Amino acid sequence: MSTGDGRSIETSSLYLVEDRVTTFEGSRWPFESGTCTAVKMAEAGFYYCGSVSNPDWVRCVVCHQDMEGWEESDNPTKEHKRSTPGCAYLKLKDPYKITFADVLELERCSIENYSSLEEEKLVNDLESLVDQMRDQLTAAVKNIQTTY
Ligand SMILES: [Zn+2]
Repeated sequence: MSTGDGRSIETSSLYLVEDRVTTFEGSRWPFESGTCTAVKMAEAGFYYCGSVSNPDWVRCVVCHQDMEGWEESDNPTKEHKRSTPGCAYLKLKDPYKITFADVLELERCSIENYSSLEEEKLVNDLESLVDQMRDQLTAAVKNIQTTY
């Protein structure tokens, strides 16, 4: 599990609600009452990723969607649906009764989602590298033109 900016694929131990609840224990999670308690967040598929500057940062164990800016009256499952309606986690009937087949399916989706997020990140990095090189080349060409 990662608590920084980097995502991590090591979430397989977090498919159980109880295990996700433990990520909130001793954390900076701000809500102890209302609809956004640690248990409610875990039931909605989230585990804790927060820090001093982002005390309410959570991530879905399957779609890896980061979410923050929670309010005490938010409904975590509703917010999850709004953010990533296709997330496989949301298809579970009862998060407390997941089967081995469920875990396999969640794992498959998790890996798939992780790969496409990483791919997106690589493409973005590559694009900004190309932009940077283009700028440097343009500057070099201008420099040559003014020198000769
Ligand atoms: Zn999700």
